[in-house]
Amino acid sequence: MLEADFVIIGSGSAGSAMAYRLSEDGKHSVIVIEFGGTDIGPLIQMPSALSIPLNMSLYDWGFASEPEPHLGGRVLATPRGKVIGGSSSINGMVYVRGHARDFDHWAEEGATGWGFADVLPYFKRMEDNDGGEEGWRGHGGPLHVQRGSRCNPLYGAFVEAGRQAGFELTDDYNGSKQEGFGPMEQTIRGGRRWSAASAYLKPALKRKNVSLLKGFARRVIIENQRAIGVEIEAHKQIQVVKARREVIVAASSINSPKILMLSGIGPAEHLRENGIAVVADRPGVGRNLQDHMELYIQQESLRPITLNSVLNPFSKALIGAQWLFFKTGLGATNHFEAAAFVRSRAGVDYPDIQYHFIPAAVRYDGKAAAKSHGFQAHVGPMRSKSRGSVTLRSPDPKSKPVIRFNYMSHPDDWTEFRHCIRLTREIFGQTAFDGYRGKEISPGSHVQSDDDLDVFIRDHAESAYHPCGTCKMGRADDMMSVVDPECRVIGIDGLRVADSSIFPRVTNGNLNAPSIMTGEKASDHILGRTPLAPSNQEPWINPRWQASDR
Ligand SMILES: Cc1cc2nc3c(=O)[nH]c(=O)nc-3n(C[C@H](O)[C@H](O)[C@H](O)COP(=O)(O)OP(=O)(O)OC[C@H]3O[C@@H](n4cnc5c(N)ncnc54)[C@H](O)[C@@H]3O)c2cc1C
Repeated sequence: MLEADFVIIGSGSAGSAMAYRLSEDGKHSVIVIEFGGTDIGPLIQMPSALSIPLNMSLYDWGFASEPEPHLGGRVLATPRGKVIGGSSSINGMVYVRGHARDFDHWAEEGATGWGFADVLPYFKRMEDNDGGEEGWRGHGGPLHVQRGSRCNPLYGAFVEAGRQAGFELTDDYNGSKQEGFGPMEQTIRGGRRWSAASAYLKPALKRKNVSLLKGFARRVIIENQRAIGVEIEAHKQIQVVKARREVIVAASSINSPKILMLSGIGPAEHLRENGIAVVADRPGVGRNLQDHMELYIQQESLRPITLNSVLNPFSKALIGAQWLFFKTGLGATNHFEAAAFVRSRAGVDYPDIQYHFIPAAVRYDGKAAAKSHGFQAHVGPMRSKSRGSVTLRSPDPKSKPVIRFNYMSHPDDWTEFRHCIRLTREIFGQTAFDGYRGKEISPGSHVQSDDDLDVFIRDHAESAYHPCGTCKMGRADDMMSVVDPECRVIGIDGLRVADSSIFPRVTNGNLNAPSIMTGEKASDHILGRTPLAPSNQEPWINPRWQASDR
């Protein structure tokens, strides 16, 4: 019998967390519909293999942007996980909650009850944190978070260079103080990727009241403005999964708006153009698409200590074997072990630039970018003002949506990215890198003027894979809101959306943690529970923010 109290579409970061929490007290049955398959095998489980699954049609939906007008017509890949655990099973395993001010901004924008004080208890509830600031982190939760061993001296050089340049240090950017240079955190446990599937879905599936249904969700079935189930395709047959209480869409920032539109919820004119009967005219569905972009700034290393020496097939085989037998060594890390969050200028009150640092110069496909040895920083602005959209290409549920990011469409994007490049050069120029610093590989020391930097940015800026915002949460009287602050789809009963699509604005850092937090908090709303008591902890804000960028 395909029927449950709660039917969740998608077993990704948010969907897995909800499967776990909604079934926890044993009172309700849960069916999770997931199109992707198993996550077994080293390509997903071995952290250092991270660049492989995101390029495989077995694990990735294979989306891409339309030609981006401000990037010379480039088409950018938009990977989304198609496997249990969703994008948390193909992501880079970097763990960042986001800045306190991000969530306060959500609340100010109409997501009442999602300010930092409200969400901090949920971040704590979900974590099983190893290290980190006492009193600010969670212990004993499903999601294991750790720090890398930082054996390579270049991690320390990066952090020391930040200090030498006058920036703050922070020992825990997920604690009270995001701003500064310090260690990066990872969702890895016992040497394996610790995805939402490992943390939440698999433990939930051990309960009798949870089941996983492999199938493709085509649309939500709505009768008299109430969601009563989901139409799926499984084993080449169209079937209906009935929801006694609620349907919850958690299919990602690309697939959630698509499913809503196919169900008749979205901009009325666009639905009519596609021959879809309008059930609720919500112009915000598919709008407000946001992302982070980043550049790789690469430098040759004079000393032969970088990971470039292990990018050859023989070393990779040795690393793979060590990981396979012992779950240790270079296979057991994502290599993102040092980070920074800094402010671009005086007058910006909290960080608006993120750095990931790795002791290797590698290309997007994992191949070496340096002739011998090198290192690189991934750097990008956090709060681009550019906005895009996800729309239907056709009413056929199988067709890929039209994704237009409009990357770099705001003039500030260019100023911010030029600053990111120059700032990275300043950091790599500190004495901490003396003895390591060779010539600049990318952009290359000849690229100096604004015009030349702009050409480099246009040709090389890449998505950091953080699309969000396409079913914005906000006040019910805001026409552009899609869900209210309890994640209920406005105008439809028995239907919620809870995943990265409901973020009013992208947060500072990577999006797995806030997506899981969304699933955690939405679960309490769905169960009608009183949300966890707000925290009274105050985040650190740089006292010099009005006068200085550091
Ligand atoms: C390559 C890559 C690298 C990233 N790196 C990081 C990182 O290092 N750290 C970090 O914090 N974040 C990272 N992110 C971002 C982060 O992983 C995502 O933002 C987050 O996982 C999104 O969670 P979600 O719940 O919104 O959606 P997802 O986790 O994408 O889950 C959606 C689920 O719904 C399923 N689904 C969708 N449509 C249907 C349908 N029609 N029928 C059935 N099932 C369906 C999908 O298969 C998927 O399992 C990365 C993302 C990518 C793609």
